[in-house]
Amino acid sequence: MHFLSPAIEDYIRNHSEGEPELLCELTRETHLKVIQPRMITGHYQGRVLSMLAKLVNPKYILEIGTYTGYSALCLAEGLQKTGELHTIDINEELHGMQRRYFDKSGFGKQIIQHTGNALDIVPNLQMVFDLVFIDAEKNDYPNYFEAVLKKTRPGSVILSDNVLWSGKVVEPLKAKDRATKTLLEFNKKLQEDPRVETVLLPIRDGLTLSRVR
Ligand code: SAH
Ligand code: CA
Repeated sequence: MHFLSPAIEDYIRNHSEGEPELLCELTRETHLKVIQPRMITGHYQGRVLSMLAKLVNPKYILEIGTYTGYSALCLAEGLQKTGELHTIDINEELHGMQRRYFDKSGFGKQIIQHTGNALDIVPNLQMVFDLVFIDAEKNDYPNYFEAVLKKTRPGSVILSDNVLWSGKVVEPLKAKDRATKTLLEFNKKLQEDPRVETVLLPIRDGLTLSRVR
């Protein structure tokens, strides 16, 4: 789904940081070997995540939805030297490929993989996260948000991806479309929630940035 014309998208990409070679390689391997490669973060959004992480310069990052590790590697670029990124995915089959790229990246020792349902794992994590990236099952976004909010501090940043859902959030809602219904409720809730300040950025499929008060 393109919200902007392909020409504008090209122009934006051509005037932003280039894609690191390792991430090009990861994208190629994901398209060759893994189902649903359209879920992977692309060049431009990846550079946005990297930049946001560098601005926040977190000690602890939490990611929900690792997939093949692209967004984790972008976010890890902003970690403090002694920081850690904890990333969760329910699909154990992706574990080996993620680890191969994490180790190639130089962030291997700082990235901790968790396998299972994020809703079971997050409550057991003991650290306070400075930056969180929510990018897993859309029907669970409100539940992820409540779970991660308990693990943040005032000033922490929570990013939520795909919140425009290919534009479905402004189209007539289909009766069986649970994901869009949940995202509509989620977007409304974040805007009204006094615990966070929120801006929805029109980056790729929609990226919400919420700052904990
Ligand atoms: N962040 C990745 C893309 C994530 S795709 C990137 O940008 O490259 C969504 C991922 O969420 C999938 O790999 C899926 O297995 C995972 N997922 C779905 N439900 C989950 C859950 N309940 N807990 C943890 N991970 C989940
Ligand atoms: Ca995503």
